[in-house]
Amino acid sequence: MAKITLDKIAHSYLAKPKNESDYALRLIDNIWDDGGAYALLGPSGCGKTTLLNIISGLLTPSQGRVLFDGKDVTDLPPEKRNIAQVFQFPVLYDTMTVFENLAFPLKNRGFNREDTKKRVLEVADILDLTNSLNKKAARLSADAKQKISLGRGLVRKDVAAILFDEPLTVIDPHLKWQLRGKLKEVHEQSKLTFIYVTHDQVEALTFADKVIVMYEGAIVQIGTPQELFEYPSHKFVGYFIGSPGMNFLSCKLEGNKAMVNGIGIELDDSTAALGRASDGTLELGIRPLYLEVHPQKVKNSVPAKVKAIEDQGNYKIITVDLSGNILRARLPEGAEALSEDAWLRFPKNWIRLFADDKLLIREQ
Ligand code: ADP
Ligand code: MG
Repeated sequence: MAKITLDKIAHSYLAKPKNESDYALRLIDNIWDDGGAYALLGPSGCGKTTLLNIISGLLTPSQGRVLFDGKDVTDLPPEKRNIAQVFQFPVLYDTMTVFENLAFPLKNRGFNREDTKKRVLEVADILDLTNSLNKKAARLSADAKQKISLGRGLVRKDVAAILFDEPLTVIDPHLKWQLRGKLKEVHEQSKLTFIYVTHDQVEALTFADKVIVMYEGAIVQIGTPQELFEYPSHKFVGYFIGSPGMNFLSCKLEGNKAMVNGIGIELDDSTAALGRASDGTLELGIRPLYLEVHPQKVKNSVPAKVKAIEDQGNYKIITVDLSGNILRARLPEGAEALSEDAWLRFPKNWIRLFADDKLLIREQ
């Protein structure tokens, strides 16, 4: 088990990088705690696999150092780092049986037959592979092959960390849900550091204690699912997390009001003070879940036009136009019916202000 330190890591696949855009990773400077369940979340191409391969040793960073428990491993190859890695597509030996595939990482480390068998049976049980142990891997479905890959990643208990790179991509949706739950269980029992890469927010939020959000080669926020939802530190996190993403409105401050095209939205004192102290370009952000849409005028509400209502089963997504700005609200089932004219209320405790794309937040 290990605490992983990424000390001023940057990486370019080009021999002579010139500007920032030549870098797949711009500057990563972080410490990941021993035993954590981390998800690395971000859109395709943002650098997740690059970072994972730098941690496992498949890739040497252009700049910076990787430390495991304070020891510099930057120049060590993967086999010397004592790490297990599970890739997006199955990596296994087709001619071996399922048992032999699962036993392979243990055999390699010199485990005796008895311990190997015991551990293989445990892992096979977790992944529902017990009945396939004697089959040749070549004859199994894509799902089962990827389960074997997962098993090979999980089989050793003496690794510094287990890295998963979008491991459920080829798995069918129902099984995906089951396996995610199992991985979480295994993490809780093993207390190993798990780093789980995904571009799927649901996967990240259900698996991880801490989600690391990446964007264009940088880490924009590390937080619990709740922190990312309630206090997205960057507009990108606001958009990327939540369904639909956070609403943003360009605004100017007048006293305790955020003015949006001449319409005033009341802020609480501390939020307004943050806005006044900033000289950046201001935007008001609010999650669709917290934006209220009423059929009649209520206290502190502003008029808007309803543009669309989508029924999503147990909730509705309402699209409204507030003086030329399109906003989305998520209303529970059973909310009052709406006609074209509606009134929006922005609860003060759910309003966030952003300056130049970054969340304004009180220093703790
Ligand atoms: P992700 O896993 O988040 O989708 P990657 O780490 O694979 O992102 O890629 C980050 C960036 O680096 C992308 O712009 C990608 O095109 C580039 N890249 C990835 N692998 C290579 C490679 N082997 N050679 C050159 N460029 C690469
Ligand atoms: Mg990738």
